Amino acid sequence: MSKSIALENTYGAENYAPLPVAIERGEGVYVWDENGKRYLDMMSAYSAVSHGHCHPRLVKVLQNQAAKLGVVSRAYYSTVLGSFLKRACDLTDFEKALPMNTGAEAVETALKAARKWAYTRKGVAQGQAEIIACEGNFHGRTIAIVGLSTEDQYRNGFGPFPAGLKQVPFGDFEALEKAISPNTAAFLVEPIQGEGGIIVPPEGYLQKCADLCGKNQVLLICDEVQCGLGRTGKLMAYQHERIQPDGLILGKALGGGLLPVSLFLANNDLMSVFTPGDHGSTFGGYPLAASVAKEALDIIVEEKLSERSQEMGDYFMAGLRRIVSGLDTALVQDVRGKGLFIGLDMNPKVVGARDVCEKLMEKGLLSKDTHHTVVRFAPPLVISKSEIDWSLEQIETVLSSF
Ligand SMILES: *Cc1c(COP(=O)(O)O)cnc(C)c1O
Repeated sequence: MSKSIALENTYGAENYAPLPVAIERGEGVYVWDENGKRYLDMMSAYSAVSHGHCHPRLVKVLQNQAAKLGVVSRAYYSTVLGSFLKRACDLTDFEKALPMNTGAEAVETALKAARKWAYTRKGVAQGQAEIIACEGNFHGRTIAIVGLSTEDQYRNGFGPFPAGLKQVPFGDFEALEKAISPNTAAFLVEPIQGEGGIIVPPEGYLQKCADLCGKNQVLLICDEVQCGLGRTGKLMAYQHERIQPDGLILGKALGGGLLPVSLFLANNDLMSVFTPGDHGSTFGGYPLAASVAKEALDIIVEEKLSERSQEMGDYFMAGLRRIVSGLDTALVQDVRGKGLFIGLDMNPKVVGARDVCEKLMEKGLLSKDTHHTVVRFAPPLVISKSEIDWSLEQIETVLSSF
């Protein structure tokens, strides 16, 4: 075992089970391990690396800003935060944005906003506000957020959880209709579930949920931390169904693969529940993060990464379907996704997703199993056709070996 891996195993809490490879360097769609072996990164750090590793424009902005000013806290204005927030609002059609660092913090921000909105605007009695989320969701790891989870491992041992949290099956509009009560503040949903196994809901689901929420004075809040910013072939995954949610949560790729940057976006009527002192974060929107994230948004537009994700995703998916159709029908249960957000659902009775990932790693292709049976393919959005062709060859070789 390598020294880096041994050190991490010895001194690190064992809250992850990484594949046995220690990455030293990255560039574009590739990473190199400590022995100089090159891998194509189909994991992209759970979609945080949509721009590719160490995008030269982002590295330059990071270096320039780091040499100028890092953090001042929100006790003062900075010369870069405003233009980052404006860019984010302009691109998503929201009036206001609240910067945090991790995805989980932005989700917490959304939950706090929704609850306070329910009490101060909707007239829900103190302490009674309810949040509805979906079964199989992943919104992060804080206590309130795992309180929303239906995954036993995420919850077990971490209770008690806050009150007022409910779940309905994902993709089931009628279940949401039944679950909404006069005390419902918000429906929190991933337009495509990521950690849940790249689950795409039935067409029209979000549209119907949006109409229902509108009628019942319930906020629709989309968690696009993983599926947003071009990943699914549109800038936002909710744009596959012409809706505009009441709140939007961004993270991961927003930091350009260099820094943790997250946002909660909403219009004035919702965001104005926050007054000075209500909520905050020392590093939220700090100049280094703001400058990198503003550039990250510019790059997504200028390099047409959403369109690229659509085109390359269609090509990749067609290739995967071709491979799967030539295999023993018992091996793969489903190929699904949108854009470059693709899941290969393996039949666990035949082969585990982890085994597939380990064999792909030997071939120089990095992926990660999610939800036990699903192999995730979510490369940086800058991937080229020839790189997809090479990947398909490796995937075909590995799948044929089972
Ligand atoms: C990763 C993720 C989060 C949490 O983000 P962190 O930065 O890990 O806290 C929230 N929502 C979704 C959909 C995610 O995929």
